Amino acid sequence: MHPLRRLVALIAALPAAVGAHALSQGADARALEREILKQLIEINTSDSAGRTAEAAQAMAQRLIAAGIPAADVRVLGYAPRYQSLVARYRGKRGGAKPILLMAHLDVVDARKEDWSTDPYAFVEKDGWYYGRGTTDNKAGAAMLVANFIRYRREGFVPERDLVLVLTADEETSGNSIAWLVKEHRDLIDAEYALNTDAGGGELRDGKAIAFSVQAAEKVYLTLQLEVHNKGGHSSLPEPDNAIYRLSAGLGRLATHAFPVRLNETTRAFFQRAAASQPAKIAADMRLLSASSDAGAASRLSVVPYYNSVMRTTCVATRLFAGHADNALPQVARATVNCRMLPDDPADSVEAVIRRVLADSAVHVARMGQPVPSPASPLRRDVMGPIEELARRKWPGAAVVPEMSTGATDGLHVRNAGIPTYGVGGLFDRIDDVRAHGRDERVSVKSFHEAAEYWYDLVKMLASVKARV
Ligand SMILES: [Zn+2]
Repeated sequence: MHPLRRLVALIAALPAAVGAHALSQGADARALEREILKQLIEINTSDSAGRTAEAAQAMAQRLIAAGIPAADVRVLGYAPRYQSLVARYRGKRGGAKPILLMAHLDVVDARKEDWSTDPYAFVEKDGWYYGRGTTDNKAGAAMLVANFIRYRREGFVPERDLVLVLTADEETSGNSIAWLVKEHRDLIDAEYALNTDAGGGELRDGKAIAFSVQAAEKVYLTLQLEVHNKGGHSSLPEPDNAIYRLSAGLGRLATHAFPVRLNETTRAFFQRAAASQPAKIAADMRLLSASSDAGAASRLSVVPYYNSVMRTTCVATRLFAGHADNALPQVARATVNCRMLPDDPADSVEAVIRRVLADSAVHVARMGQPVPSPASPLRRDVMGPIEELARRKWPGAAVVPEMSTGATDGLHVRNAGIPTYGVGGLFDRIDDVRAHGRDERVSVKSFHEAAEYWYDLVKMLASVKARV
């Protein structure tokens, strides 16, 4: 069958398929997902504990025990402290390039004294699972491992290989994924990637209202601005002063706004997000999306998130100057952090900053090189099933493509030319985000629903013969 027709047929057949395994597999699957999540939470994989190898090994053992050949399950990393898991679920021979499934094993450090429960104990209470990493990102790692085991038990043979990667330092350096891309491209190479660590669902008054799919991320660039001066005694001030020159430049920067420029993802974001907004904002979002209307852009840019989605931003984040209360400053320095649109070259952003500073005495230098991250195209063969399944499972939720303003492991994968889609699938209120914070938790219902969503999604995508 033509791949596109096959896909349409699969989607049409979905309610029956979903119903069938929901009945036969429901309780078993949930028990397995819970058990794996518990095991992961109770291995402290914060950077200070450095136990990602243990977590990777534990997941490797489960996969091998389920019948995935040991040769297809690798634990590896650029350092003993940072070990990732890469596992291959073999599909039919001669299939298309694999689909890469991503999560990370490491978590942000949590201090026991800040929490109501032990962050490294798995606690179920009042319909929630508590523990460091429950949302970021051990729920994702647990569901991917559980689903591989379920596929194996059922004897599912995909049309192409599925590759699971659980990385060891997403929260700190991102070196694990960068190293895998560079040194073991063959192991993780894929036609496209699905990331559990981005995108997510929004609940309002207990109802699912939005399901976001991360298809792009902004690019990070930090600049250092520096002014030098001969200095002198503060009792003999001169007009040429390092602090004044730097602050005058920063004043100009403060009022500069980079131009509004939408891409495929952010245009779709404003168009789709409008559905869950009050009338006035919704009208502006539609106007902006349809015609990049300047008035709508300026009204929406009052909201920091919308502002950041529609343009490159550069903001002063640190300031340092002078060496004594009674001396003229010999140096004044500022750090400016930029979040660039994916297709905004760093050179041109830097050139704009110099032009806006309008003072050749302010030296501008880059602190590190940006990792470019091209936006992933909203491919019909990937977005179609993602949307269709989300609509069936959470009927009231608008499916919203998004460009995140921060970065994930997806950055390096996109940089390697593998389109990446963040499909977290966990629903929560946006005013109660606990990732990286205290008392991190995931609702029992949302965790198992997301796991089931991923089970169906990957199965559906892996049943299509080749790219349309
Ligand atoms: Zn994360």
